[in-house]
Amino acid sequence: MPHKHIKRASSKSGAGGEPGGTVAEEGGSRKPRTASGPDAAPGLVTVAPGQASGGSAFDLSAVDADADGGLDKAAAKEALIVERARIVSLQERLYAERARSLLVVFQAIDTGGKDGTIRAVFEGVNPQGCRVWPFKVPSAEEAAHDFLWRYHARTPGRGIIGVFNRSHYEDVLVVRVKGLVPEPVWRARYGQINDFERMLVAEGTTILKFFLHISKDEQKERLEARIATPEKHWKFDPADLVERKSWDAYQAAFSDALTRCSTPHAPWHVVPANRKWFRNLLVARTIADTLEAMDPRFPQANGDIAGMRVPD
Ligand code: ADP
Repeated sequence: MPHKHIKRASSKSGAGGEPGGTVAEEGGSRKPRTASGPDAAPGLVTVAPGQASGGSAFDLSAVDADADGGLDKAAAKEALIVERARIVSLQERLYAERARSLLVVFQAIDTGGKDGTIRAVFEGVNPQGCRVWPFKVPSAEEAAHDFLWRYHARTPGRGIIGVFNRSHYEDVLVVRVKGLVPEPVWRARYGQINDFERMLVAEGTTILKFFLHISKDEQKERLEARIATPEKHWKFDPADLVERKSWDAYQAAFSDALTRCSTPHAPWHVVPANRKWFRNLLVARTIADTLEAMDPRFPQANGDIAGMRVPD
């Protein structure tokens, strides 16, 4: 894996946007890396677990959304091809093994790039072993159940990579910002989410949570591009302009979710996402590293297949 030339991400506050976050050091190791270990993909900001219990809150504003890891676009695009090939080959093993699953969660502010990331990172993956679930405003049936019901029903089965485009975190994000339930109800959800994720992990699911971090200026540019380009009009929702007025409230809600729900079993990763090519590379590399660390194996064949003959 050609990681050596990648420098660690810059950040307004120096070493990786602390307090509240840890940043991987410069890469170079060829050993399998776990996404949350000290050797995670350079540029990724992994929220240190344990802050919910007394530590300082994660300071999202200290993470430089413009970070590019010292790479240029062409090098990042080349590296993405390598990471995608790793994902494709490891996914085949995961699917064949049928013992464990991977759940990849994407959260971001409007225009943050969830759709584009999913498209770029999962290109070439066997669709039979991958399920992508977008979560919108809950239907009447979904709203009639507990908030986790619709998400639990879509968690990946053994052998499958599940992708959540928005997730159970909406119930402490938009729900909190818009005051859709009383405060004690959404406050209780951080712990309920941690319990839910702990159960999934204990049952054989590895969880990767990515927050795609863009700046307010970048969101303005992306909204303006959608207005100016007829082919992008389908992506434009005038409601996004209203939501933008709640930018600060959303950032506070994101910070709280990252702080309270980054756990040893399911840490949060903050991805500098103003530069789409760097964002895609970081996400792909982290997924590939995570699959590699899971080390899925082809199952043992029953009997001596190599010695068998196909009848005429
Ligand atoms: P996206 O922005 O993900 O491409 P949409 O433009 O259809 O898709 O937006 C989906 C909307 O659904 C968002 O405004 C989001 O806040 C909302 N939503 C998702 N989950 C919930 C929830 N649990 N409660 C209320 N609204 C939700």
